[in-house]
Amino acid sequence: MFPTKIARAAGTGGSVPVECCQVCGNERLETVLSLGYLPPVNQMVPVGQPPRQLPWFPTTLLYCANCELVQLGLAVDPAIIFPPEYPYTSGTTKLLRDNFAELYAESANLLALGRDDLIVDVGSNDGTLIANFQKGGHRILGIEPTDVSKIANARGIATLQRYFSKEVAREVKGKHGAAKVVTAANCFAHIEDVHAIVEAILEMLAPDGVFISESHYLIGLIDRLQYDTIYHEHLRYYSVGSLKHLLDMHGLEVFHARPIPSHGGSIRVYAARRGTQPVQGSVKQMLDGEPRGDAMRKRLGAFRNEVTLSKLRLYALIRDIKENGGRICGISAPSRASTLVNYVGLDEAIIDYVCEIEGSLKIGKCMPGTLIPVVEERRMFAEQPECAIIFSWHIADELAPKLRQKGYRGTLVTPLPVPRALE
Ligand SMILES: [Zn+2]
Repeated sequence: MFPTKIARAAGTGGSVPVECCQVCGNERLETVLSLGYLPPVNQMVPVGQPPRQLPWFPTTLLYCANCELVQLGLAVDPAIIFPPEYPYTSGTTKLLRDNFAELYAESANLLALGRDDLIVDVGSNDGTLIANFQKGGHRILGIEPTDVSKIANARGIATLQRYFSKEVAREVKGKHGAAKVVTAANCFAHIEDVHAIVEAILEMLAPDGVFISESHYLIGLIDRLQYDTIYHEHLRYYSVGSLKHLLDMHGLEVFHARPIPSHGGSIRVYAARRGTQPVQGSVKQMLDGEPRGDAMRKRLGAFRNEVTLSKLRLYALIRDIKENGGRICGISAPSRASTLVNYVGLDEAIIDYVCEIEGSLKIGKCMPGTLIPVVEERRMFAEQPECAIIFSWHIADELAPKLRQKGYRGTLVTPLPVPRALE
């Protein structure tokens, strides 16, 4: 029933091409887009170190017309893309915190959660999501493999530091009982064997339990031209349709789905064992809005063309600034900036430096694949370069006023979906 040729790169020290669909096993995958060879987004070399050889990986998107999944054409060993020295701490952006608070309010109401109900968050990171359920008086448990779990525990948010698996799920169930709700925010796209994860979730989910996942939304990615969120950590790009296909394979029924603003456009999808929850109109509504088959091929073709044009348009914009002797810096170095910088071909001759706020672990290192240094943002306020490109452009509305307030007077540019100077 499940694909037998799952691309497993873990332990290879390298990468493995995806030869059949990670969800349905279809071998006739179609190429959507190629961003060329890109370095791992966390591969940041200290400034001043002599250049050494580093791995770059092909970055190609594939489309499966059988289950509608869009996926990366290559699986890279997690040891390469998740080096222990760069633990990702779940965004401390207000947008994400607000989203998780809202997730709690929505689900507590929709599912009429009781005090004794156990909520388990898979890939719980620093506990930002699950803390909302704890505040609501429910029993909670986070599961997080990295050292970030220590931050959560120090904050009083019970977190198990383990890689999530069927064995761990069994252990959790034995110790705490079955979970009424299992949440997984933004880890559903990262794990190599997604079927094993769904099976593990089912293992600890109560018979009337509910699984809530949040994933970056393929349709939003296409519509807002967020090709910069394509990198090797993200193996799969879901629509409600493809997620439904995956969950259906495990006897789970999607009963509520809706768009949420996280990461520039995500989806929150509720699923339960078939027949245990009334299916809401939201599911049909979301599915009806998603292209399929030839319509999807057409959308993906237009997307590819727009990605190419966005590169040329950004060059046109910054060429004018450079011709006039202007200096350009970048603002913030999220993972997505690595894809943009390397796909567009920005280097240290074009971008003087990229700013991060004080305390960032990225300061003193080079942007992946380049010699552009990452520096503390105070340098930008002191030097006032003529132009600053906001690499976290998906939260430009939140960032731009703050940058002005702190005293930046130059031109603020967002590189996507259409490169432009902000007012
Ligand atoms: Zn498929």
